[in-house]
Amino acid sequence: MPQVKERPKPFLFPEFCKGCGRCISACPKHCIAMGEEVNPMTGLVPVVLDLEQCNGCALCIDACPEPYGLQPTPAEVADFELQDPEKLFGLRHTEAPAPVDIPDEWIPLPACEPLVIKGNYAAAIGALLAGCRHFFGYPITPSTEGAELMAKFLPKLGGTYLQAVSEVATVNHMYGCGGAGLRCMTFTSGPGFSLMVEGISYMIGAEVPGVFVNIMRGGPGLGNIAPEQSDIKLACRGLGHGNTHAVVLTPSTPQEMLDLTLLAFDLAFKYRNPVIVLGDGYLGQMTGKVKLPPKMLKPGLPSWAVYGDEMHRKNLISSIDLDEHDLELHNLDINRKYEAMKSEARADLFMCEDAETVFVACGTPSRMAKGAVEDLRKEGIKAGLFRPLTVWPFPLPQLLPLLPRAQRIVVVEASPGQLRDELLLALSQEGISKYPRIESVTHMGGILPQQHEIMAAALGRQEALQEVHA
Ligand code: SF4
Ligand code: SF4
Repeated sequence: MPQVKERPKPFLFPEFCKGCGRCISACPKHCIAMGEEVNPMTGLVPVVLDLEQCNGCALCIDACPEPYGLQPTPAEVADFELQDPEKLFGLRHTEAPAPVDIPDEWIPLPACEPLVIKGNYAAAIGALLAGCRHFFGYPITPSTEGAELMAKFLPKLGGTYLQAVSEVATVNHMYGCGGAGLRCMTFTSGPGFSLMVEGISYMIGAEVPGVFVNIMRGGPGLGNIAPEQSDIKLACRGLGHGNTHAVVLTPSTPQEMLDLTLLAFDLAFKYRNPVIVLGDGYLGQMTGKVKLPPKMLKPGLPSWAVYGDEMHRKNLISSIDLDEHDLELHNLDINRKYEAMKSEARADLFMCEDAETVFVACGTPSRMAKGAVEDLRKEGIKAGLFRPLTVWPFPLPQLLPLLPRAQRIVVVEASPGQLRDELLLALSQEGISKYPRIESVTHMGGILPQQHEIMAAALGRQEALQEVHA
């Protein structure tokens, strides 16, 4: 009698099934059906097998695109227990070469007339020119126009616009997209940004790039949609739990919204770290003349990307490290990276060469401060404007040469002193204890400092001064 050898029936690791259903169509015996339960380890819904009618034809195994999906049942896993597939089935052979960096390419743009657009649109155009083709977000006033423009353009450019279910989802989409080495961004405002910071901490820990444009509104809480600089502290000192920092850029014109968003992508990939662009509600809505740059970026692909092809399969990005020693080493590494990021500190100086009164202001309040400087100069007052373009790192190296001549520093801001605190922290971290008297002109709740108040501060009129430090 010829011996009939039973063909092995298929076996499925649910953790490796993405629920594509190819095996369902392949099975002539209808042994496989769509599942109904989400697998908690993957968030996907694996198929279910009922193998009573199975004849072991293996068509489902051939149909399965997952390397560790359907397999012939190995004897040792007949009673299912999750095991390392490499141990069960051996190393998956690949001829793919090790990944290498695919460099970025700059493409010249034809000359065109300047645009007259809102700050939010300018930042979105900056992102598109920086090669951003993935947007995730939960629209929120006063940043919504940025998301709207991305929704309009990205599908036409072969990109992805995804309105997430929340800001928490948004930042996690960005984690995945940035981890794949792709350029992604969001537009948000204070309440949304607060919800994102845990995910930003994960991105920093896992060294994943991404750009967050935060068009700040009046707080605390839901507050209102008028301009404030309420998130300086959150962006500079509070990016989630752990040891976190990101470059924080502060544009003050629609042109700078474009230029600094472009720069943000460059820095995000240079340092493999999120970058924050802090605008305020007024700047997001303000219309201004914007010149486009002479070139745009066609992004390459970094070798570290978890890109999902065979070549990049061995790459892993994770923000968890349960070994204390390894985690400390990782923290030391990212602290070295923060030190390197300090070289990115930038500032714009206006009439500062001989300034005895130095205004320090960023974002929209710096526009009022600039007007005050111009008018004070007409009255013979030696005033100047020091405008940080990064609030983290604070551009102290650019400020220090002004201090010997300055008789007073006046911080002008739409917050209760968050910019002033960054200045004081920067001075103290450098061990600088001798500096001129520091005063503040502040407003909150959506009110911006006015030019006459700033001038009064320079002229020493007490009604406009809030002395904070001597
Ligand atoms: S081995 Fe053949 S019969 Fe069995 S489940 Fe797969 S496709 Fe269906
Ligand atoms: S073909 Fe593979 S991945 Fe797709 S549903 Fe079937 S078992 Fe899952």
